Amino acid sequence: MSVRRYIRDLFTRQPDGPELAMAQWRALSRQIPLLYAMLVANTLIVAWTHVHVAPAELTIYIPAVLTFLCVVRTIGWWRSRNAQLSVGQARSRLLAMVWMAAGLAVGFTAWSLSLFPFGDAYMRSQIAFYMGITTIGCMFCLMHVRAAALVVGILVLFPFTLFFITSGQPTFIAIAINMALVITALLIILLGNNKDFAELVESRNAMVQRQLETQRLLDENHRLANIDSLTGLPNRRNFDQRLAAALAEAEITHCPIAVARFDLDDFKSVNQIFGHSTGDRVLIEVARRINALRRPDTFVARLDSNSFALVMQGPVDETSMADCGEKLCAAMRKPFDMPAGPIRLSASAGFAASCPGDTAHSLFDRADYANSAAKRNARGDAVVFLDQHASEITKVRRMEHLLHTAKLDDEIYILLQPQFDVALGVTTGFEALARWRSPVLGEVSPAEFIPMAERTGQICRITQIVLGKALAVSELLPAKMRLSVNLSANDIGSATAIEQIVARVSAHSKPCRLDFEITETAVMRDLDQANRSLLALLNLGARIALDDFGTGHSSLTHVQKLPLHRIKIDRSFVMEVTSDPASRAIVKTMVDLCRNLGISCVFEGIETEQQLEALVSLGGQVMQGYLFGRPMPPEEIEAYLARETKLRQLEARAVG
Ligand code: C2E
Ligand code: MG
Ligand code: MG
Repeated sequence: MSVRRYIRDLFTRQPDGPELAMAQWRALSRQIPLLYAMLVANTLIVAWTHVHVAPAELTIYIPAVLTFLCVVRTIGWWRSRNAQLSVGQARSRLLAMVWMAAGLAVGFTAWSLSLFPFGDAYMRSQIAFYMGITTIGCMFCLMHVRAAALVVGILVLFPFTLFFITSGQPTFIAIAINMALVITALLIILLGNNKDFAELVESRNAMVQRQLETQRLLDENHRLANIDSLTGLPNRRNFDQRLAAALAEAEITHCPIAVARFDLDDFKSVNQIFGHSTGDRVLIEVARRINALRRPDTFVARLDSNSFALVMQGPVDETSMADCGEKLCAAMRKPFDMPAGPIRLSASAGFAASCPGDTAHSLFDRADYANSAAKRNARGDAVVFLDQHASEITKVRRMEHLLHTAKLDDEIYILLQPQFDVALGVTTGFEALARWRSPVLGEVSPAEFIPMAERTGQICRITQIVLGKALAVSELLPAKMRLSVNLSANDIGSATAIEQIVARVSAHSKPCRLDFEITETAVMRDLDQANRSLLALLNLGARIALDDFGTGHSSLTHVQKLPLHRIKIDRSFVMEVTSDPASRAIVKTMVDLCRNLGISCVFEGIETEQQLEALVSLGGQVMQGYLFGRPMPPEEIEAYLARETKLRQLEARAVG
């Protein structure tokens, strides 16, 4: 770089980075009042000592003008001292400061040197001292702005040195040389400091940038840890935090909040039938629909696969919760347009409002209970947790406790319900149905205690007891008679439970005359384990029946894939077979399907002759229902079968 360019850059080059310009401006701002105060005070002192020897223009008017300029600048600075400057503004003010420094240096130098001839030797020394010391002071105040400090140093140094050297007076020549040396040294130091300052600002800026980047990464991590990546909704962790915070606020403001748990019904089958990518699209659309409906004070989160939750703040009462639930469920009933075609779904929601003293856990538990109540009794709709649910919970908890402490071997017993083949005119088997006679509660329906035992992990034990009792009864039945035992999803899904079942059946006398009844839900939970379990049961010589067919998301693929011997058509179809043409058509299809697959078909819950006639006309053959026999104690089986044989003999005689 040429010397000329170097010197030009020293004065004109703007600070490189915006941070440096801002830092220079901040440092200069702090020193400006000091600069002007020192300049004005020094000047007034010199003017005062010369007031009687020099003309008034030099001792009063010019100092007054210079002082006025300095005061105006100081006031201007004072007013704008808190202003937030942009980088551009800071840069232009720094440049203005360079020009201002140049102007003041020229003005004060000219004034000092014009005063010089009027004083005596002392006064002349004072002028030399004033110029030297004030220049050094000003350069220090301007040290952060390289160009301004250089301008002041140079614009004072040259005329000063020239003036005093040409004065011919040895003392002043010596002072001029001293001054030239000091100012030059000072300029070198200032240039060095200026460089250090720039580096300091740069490294501080780099540190700030690193801190910002670290913060950004922390924020991003925090966001990812709290967001469900598929739907973009807050996740369970975020929900837990928000619920706890909203409850704490509710405790203070005494305004209750509400929580909702919201599940898509049978979402699993969407994944199974249409594939996971379609399932994902459905979930994204679900999130969009919920978001579109939500009030600004409602927080929405995705808890897990098909389960969502809301935290509602603001006014909440039974009506507003029911309204919200209705809108949500209605939105979910609209078809989901997917590339594979429209998918129809429903969703069940449970709402609960907070009470004083609630914890996040207790409140969510109530919403969860309302959600299960919706699934049980109002599938596809919303249920608001009410007092009646609270007493239900108490009852359920009590029952759970009693089931837990029950002597199951004594309290669980079985009833047997006949399965009648209308073509052969004989009972071909019985279904073993569990009963619980609690010493405290009396008779408890399996519809109540079986799901409870599944929830509390006692079902496998109950299955063992029922199986043991059923095996004992099977000894007493005629050789060709089959006996059905129901298995729960927990049995099918557990390798240990199946091993225990296999061990118990194997320990019994052969051949195995058992049919195991399983449900589609049990199979769908874990298809691979279900297949392994069924194979183990088949190896025993047992047969497999698919129970309650038509109630779940019946999929023909299951029927084809599973090693089934029989399908049991659910009672709901039988109930409507006489009145609903659609039910008749479905029953006909099922009968044909079973025939084509070479498996038998049993109808459940036949109560009337009309139902029987309708089913027989559609090709039904094996029937189970109150019309043929209610579930009965094993002791009554013998009499039942004897009655049947007698009836057949009478019929045969009548025909003969
Ligand atoms: P399921 O296996 O489908 O049993 C048939 C149910 O329908 C029985 O109810 C039976 O009493 C009833 N039923 C039979 N015919 C008629 C009829 O004509 N009309 C009416 N209204 N009902 C009829 P139950 O015994 O109350 O059992 C209910 C459910 O509890 C069973 O349905 C089964 O899912 C479960 N369950 C019963 N015992 C056991 C068991 O030992 N293990 C397991 N895992 N579940 C069991
Ligand atoms: Mg059954
Ligand atoms: Mg059934």
